[in-house]
Amino acid sequence: MKIHEYQAKQILAKFGVPVPAGEVCTTAEEVERFAASLARPVVVKAQVHVGGRGKAGGIKVAKDASEARQIAADMLGSKLKGLTVEKVLVEEALDIRREYYLGITIDRAAQKNAFMISSVGGVDIEQIADKTPEKISKLHVDPATGLLDFQIRQACFAANLDPAAIASTLRFARALYDAYIAIDGSLAEINPLVLTGDGSVIAADAKINIDDNALFRHPELAEWEEESEEDEIEAEAHRRHIQYVRLGGDIGIIGNGAGLVMTTIDEVNRAGGRAANFLDIGGGARAELVRNALEIVLMDPHVKGLLFNVFGGITRCDEVARGIIEATSTMDIKVPVVIRLAGTMEAEGKALLHGASLIAADTMQEAAATIVRMTR
Ligand code: GDP
Ligand code: MN
Repeated sequence: MKIHEYQAKQILAKFGVPVPAGEVCTTAEEVERFAASLARPVVVKAQVHVGGRGKAGGIKVAKDASEARQIAADMLGSKLKGLTVEKVLVEEALDIRREYYLGITIDRAAQKNAFMISSVGGVDIEQIADKTPEKISKLHVDPATGLLDFQIRQACFAANLDPAAIASTLRFARALYDAYIAIDGSLAEINPLVLTGDGSVIAADAKINIDDNALFRHPELAEWEEESEEDEIEAEAHRRHIQYVRLGGDIGIIGNGAGLVMTTIDEVNRAGGRAANFLDIGGGARAELVRNALEIVLMDPHVKGLLFNVFGGITRCDEVARGIIEATSTMDIKVPVVIRLAGTMEAEGKALLHGASLIAADTMQEAAATIVRMTR
C-alpha cells in the first residue's frame, strides 16, 4: 500500500527521524494560517501518489504566508499527472546544502532488505540509477542483526558523503530502518535527504510503501488506504473482482492462473513485445467473466492486440472457447486476438474457435510471437 508523504512523515517523526515542521492542509486559508504561524519561507507540496512532483510543478517554495496561500489556491483542485490534488503539505523551507538519497527496500533476489545511499540525490535519481548506478552504494541487511552501524558508515564513505554529515546520517538511517521494520514496510525512500547549512540531515521528502499482507497487523495504517487514487482501470477491475494490474505496454494479456499469466508476460517480452497488463481470470471461463476481462483490458487505449492464454485443467478448453466466442461476438473488438488453448478438451476447444475470427496458436511461444508480429 502506498501512503502519502505527509503520512510517511508522521510515522517517521514517531521513530525519531528528523522531518521538517509541517502540516497537511485542504484549503488555501489553512495554508496561509499555518505558513503565518511558521513566520518563515515555506514549501507547498501536492499530496498525490505520483513520483516526480517537483518536475511536474507540485512542489513550490513561497517566501511568505500570502504567497503560500496563492500557490495553494492554484494547486488545490488542479491535476498533477492526471490526479486531483486534494491536500497539500506545508513545511518550513529548508536551507539545502546537499541533496542525498537514502532508501530501504526488499531485494527479492538476495532475500534481504537492501539499504542504499547516494550523495547525488534529488529529482534526477532515476537517471543516476540507470546511467551511473555505481554512484549509489548498496548493502544488504542481515535480518538477524538488523542494519549495523559499521555497515552504514561504510556505505556513507563509499557514497562519498560529506564527512561532517556521516554521524547524523548514521542516526537517521538507524531510525529509518527501525520505522521500516516496525511498520512492515516494503519501501522507505528519502529523496532528497537534505544536508542543511548547519550540518544536520533532514527528510525533505519521504516515500513509504507498506506490505499489504501485513496490513492486518497495522489497523491504524490500513485506514489510510484510498481507492480514489488507484489507476482508474485497476479501480474498475477491483470493483468487478478481477485480478488486474496495469503494466504499461501495448499487448493485453488474459490467462487463467497467476503463474501462467506471469509466464505469458515473460514470453511476450521474449518475443520483443511489452505486456499492457496482468489479468488472471482464475478458474472457469463463463462468457460473463470473459466479457468483463476483455472490457477491462480494452479500457487501456494503448492495447493494440490481445493474447488469451488458457490452460485447461479443471476448466475445460471447450467451455473457455465457448465463453470467448460468446463474449467476443457481442463486443466490437478492433484489435487482433490470439488464443492459445491447451489441456482438457483442447481439440474440442480449438475446433470451436476454428470458425471464429480469432487466431488460434498451439503453443504459448507461438501465441506470443504471433501477437507481437501482428501489433508491429
Ligand atoms: P518529488 O519531486 O515528488 O520527489 O518531491 P520532493 O519533495 O523530493 O521535492 C523535489 C525537489 O524540490 C527537491 O529535490 C528539492 O531540490 C526541491 N526543493 C527546494 N526547496 C525545497 C524545500 O524547502 N523542501 C523540499 N522538500 N524540497 C525543496
Ligand atoms: Mn523526492
